[in-house]
Amino acid sequence: MTLENLCKIADECTECPLHENRTNGVFGEGPADSRIMLVGEAPGRMEDETGRPFIGSSGKLLSEIIESAGMDRSEFYITSIVKCRPPENRKPKKPEYSKCMELYLHKQIELINPDIIGLLGNSATHALIGKSSIKQIHGKTYERDGRKYMALFHPAAALYSRKLLPQLKEDMLALKMFVEP
Ligand code: SF4
Repeated sequence: MTLENLCKIADECTECPLHENRTNGVFGEGPADSRIMLVGEAPGRMEDETGRPFIGSSGKLLSEIIESAGMDRSEFYITSIVKCRPPENRKPKKPEYSKCMELYLHKQIELINPDIIGLLGNSATHALIGKSSIKQIHGKTYERDGRKYMALFHPAAALYSRKLLPQLKEDMLALKMFVEP
């Protein structure tokens, strides 16, 4: 199985109710050998329209944050815990993200085999490492099943509350340091 094959399957997927509102599936993008993966909550309106992750205003901020840490977005593999946009931008429900992660995200992680996975926001953090209080755990690393994870604020949170931005930049820098030789 390759990422391309998996993406084709996800684009036709009807395994959870989220497919009913899908214009385009948003499987993820980035190099197949990325050392850092970023995982967000779910596609939004612009992502659903284009099939690309993090391209709305929070995506633009994410690119700026990555650049402020001396990296480029093209170095990252970026995806979400669900590949289809939830209606009204609600949070994905547990049966939805559990099914989607089982079918796609865990396989993406296996295929890409990154050094570390950055979890953007509470939903991804809770879904992948079972922790919910991002305010308390951001910037810390956790190990689950032999994989390393770090929780970061979701860039959308920094759009609402600009005071989170310096912290998000600092955590992105920590993520970079983690994989530097
Ligand atoms: S969210 Fe995931 S599991 Fe649900 S329909 Fe879309 S691709 Fe399939």
